[in-house]
Amino acid sequence: MSARTKKIVAIVAGMLIAGVPMATLNYWLDGFVERQGQNEIDSAARRTIALVDYRVGLAVTALDDLAARGVASCRADHLDALRNANFSTGAIKEFSILAPNGRTLCSDLGTHPGERVVLATQGITARPDAVLELIRIGETSKFIRVRRAALTGENILAAVIPADLLVPRTNSRGGLMSVHARMVMRNGTFVSDVGPVSDTDSRLSSTRTSDLYGMTVETSVRRVAFATDYQDLQTLGFFFTGFLAVALFAVVILFPKREPDNPVAELERALEAGEFVPYYQPVVDITNGRVRGAEVLMRWRKPDGTVLAPASFIPLAESSGLILDMTRALMRSVRDEMGAAVAERPFLRIGFNLAARHFMNEEIVSDVREIFEGSPVRLSQIVLEVTERQSLDSLTSARRVIAALQGLGIKVAIDDIGAGHAGLSYMLKLGVDIIKIDKMFIDALDHENSSMTIIETLVDLARNMRMDIVAEGVENFEQVVALRERGIRSAQGYVFAPPLPGASFLELLAAIDPQSGPVSSGVDRSGGLIALGARASAA
Ligand code: C2E
Ligand code: CA
Ligand code: CA
Repeated sequence: MSARTKKIVAIVAGMLIAGVPMATLNYWLDGFVERQGQNEIDSAARRTIALVDYRVGLAVTALDDLAARGVASCRADHLDALRNANFSTGAIKEFSILAPNGRTLCSDLGTHPGERVVLATQGITARPDAVLELIRIGETSKFIRVRRAALTGENILAAVIPADLLVPRTNSRGGLMSVHARMVMRNGTFVSDVGPVSDTDSRLSSTRTSDLYGMTVETSVRRVAFATDYQDLQTLGFFFTGFLAVALFAVVILFPKREPDNPVAELERALEAGEFVPYYQPVVDITNGRVRGAEVLMRWRKPDGTVLAPASFIPLAESSGLILDMTRALMRSVRDEMGAAVAERPFLRIGFNLAARHFMNEEIVSDVREIFEGSPVRLSQIVLEVTERQSLDSLTSARRVIAALQGLGIKVAIDDIGAGHAGLSYMLKLGVDIIKIDKMFIDALDHENSSMTIIETLVDLARNMRMDIVAEGVENFEQVVALRERGIRSAQGYVFAPPLPGASFLELLAAIDPQSGPVSSGVDRSGGLIALGARASAA
């Protein structure tokens, strides 16, 4: 799959993955809003009918009480009883005495009440002696009138409740009614309503009827109007799902990029692609200027041409264990590239850097033998460097490996002497052939006497133990002179040449050692080497 197709697949997958929670939430939110709406109108209808039952019930009880006390006419003491009843009963506008034909004879307010128009009449469940009426007083005011027969005479006792008081003005949370509630009589005559009127087509509605008194209330709400009540929640939902979508997009889109981001996988790929290449830093005989060999330093040459120094990839290669394969590959490259030139010059030594890992078992011994067996390079021309910077896990194992290598004629060098923590005695226990003095001491040569003392000690020691010494990181001629005066023969450093690509190193060898075999006079050639090295390093 190409990177482009991968990206498209990732985007589509991202949309699907992000879309599912988004759709689910919105579906749930829609359902939630709808359920909330239904709950609200159901509860409004229930509360309205409860109010009707309560208020009409109070009126019926009050009338029964008056009847039981014998109230039946407009006599002064009966009017007092009506006033007392009104005083002690909230929500009832008036108590009155009606003639058998329904005309109002008197009320607790006085003896000349205005005209009442009856709009609808209906019975009360289980109360054949009582009736409920919808009446109008004056132009518009509507009332529910409850009437029952007096116990003596023909007159009728009545209680009048303002119709508006039967429909609650507030919602269950104490706010203004957000739903529309509309009350009708049993025959459908309109009694009262409250709240915003809804569109008939797009609304939720709930209907409830009072079992006792026969009034019906229908509550309703516009779906959209209700949704706006919960808009905050919906907006929050959109933000939440939007955020989730973006996060998932990011994860899904970045996911295919993570593979090359895995640095070990990237190292493996580069190894496969042959991007790790050898550079060669010449080791020079400072008594005659001849090139005695080279140290192989790994470089990562990327496809775009950039060349990375080991500091940026060797630590990971060592910790991941990939260094073992990388070293094998490096040795093969050197064998193929330098084989002929090294074979022609038997005095040349080619050094490789090993990691502490290499000394844990004898794999390196067979590796070196297999790689160089049958090649023009003699095993005696190979130097393997073990750094003092890293501690070896097992001294016994390291000694065994070193001895086995030396058994093949391979030279072993201890690198970065003085820069590590192991110390001199440790180094001696390893039984190496060469010690490489760290650049730190060479740098200090210019101004510190103690550095010279250390170098002199190392030279004495090396002579006694028949070890060679190589000075590293030599950058100026004063250092060359100082080292030569102390009896050091081999050195490497920028003063001679930086690490060179294979082709440059071959050119250098061809220029200063055109024929095979040892060359006796090296003075001119040393000059030539320095000039060439400078040119190569500038390139
Ligand atoms: P090292 O083995 O101590 O290599 C010497 C380092 O000093 C090299 O750095 C070299 O370029 C640098 N150098 C040489 N002359 C001078 C000089 O005059 N002045 C200064 N300032 N530096 C100089 P490089 O090539 O960056 O390598 C760094 C380290 O990476 C090496 O230190 C070695 O420990 C490790 N390394 C390189 N190649 C390999 C390899 O193939 N395998 C393993 N395990 N480690 C390697
Ligand atoms: Ca080295
Ligand atoms: Ca070194």
